[in-house]
Amino acid sequence: MAKGIIIKTDEEIELLRKSNLIVSKTLSLMGEMLKPGITGKKLDEKAEEFIRDNGGVPSFKGYQGFPASLCISINEAVVHGIPNNLEIKDGDVVSIDCGVYMNGFHGDAAYTFAIGDVDEKIMKLLRVTNKSLYLGIERAVAGNRVGDISYAIQYFTEKQHGYGVVRELVGHGVGRDLHEKPEVPNFGRRGRGPVLKDGMTIAIEPMINMGTKRVSVLDDGWTIVTRDRKASAHYEHSVVIRKNKADLLSNHEIIEESIKNNANIKQL
Ligand code: MG
Ligand code: MG
Repeated sequence: MAKGIIIKTDEEIELLRKSNLIVSKTLSLMGEMLKPGITGKKLDEKAEEFIRDNGGVPSFKGYQGFPASLCISINEAVVHGIPNNLEIKDGDVVSIDCGVYMNGFHGDAAYTFAIGDVDEKIMKLLRVTNKSLYLGIERAVAGNRVGDISYAIQYFTEKQHGYGVVRELVGHGVGRDLHEKPEVPNFGRRGRGPVLKDGMTIAIEPMINMGTKRVSVLDDGWTIVTRDRKASAHYEHSVVIRKNKADLLSNHEIIEESIKNNANIKQL
């Protein structure tokens, strides 16, 4: 569709906030449930039940044929993993991406959880990826350009830490459609790309690999994995562009609160 970048009204932004609150609460519930031995399928069932009980619809289910409510991407899986019956193990890193459609608007956020005794080198990947999200958000203010966000994420993760920034997948505008304009790459140049304006709503989502930036798609047609099968991390917030500081629509604090209370998950 040839739609341009859509500026949202304050009423629309409050609806986006509601959808994102269900997303964040779903991810928080995942933070309560995650432990060695649990399966992605079980998490997905609970997430779908929770979303529907709260009046939402899972955005991802049926999206271009995707078969589940959550994307669950473990270790070398970057994004778009399909929840399955394999048990999650101690030492795994589990990226969960969740979308909720409600009142005509999509919420979208993601978080990578460290299960049990995760290697310190991988913990560092998680910390750096999570920090890069906030460095990107700092640049997400009216008058800047999309490239300012992209550059901040790429400079910190790739230049300063030597990680690989996935090129094939990017952040995006979010609203009545799950993926709207503009694309928000995690790599790029300062001062380039569309100008950010007050009332734009975008999902910023660094997908950062420990090793190579290169990825492959598994035979299931969905799961994106690192080519070298080293770990990958993914954190995502939906935000509103404002004059001096972006307004977060999704809420990671409630996810981190559940992690704090779950001895099976290592804090960042
Ligand atoms: Mg997402
Ligand atoms: Mg997204």
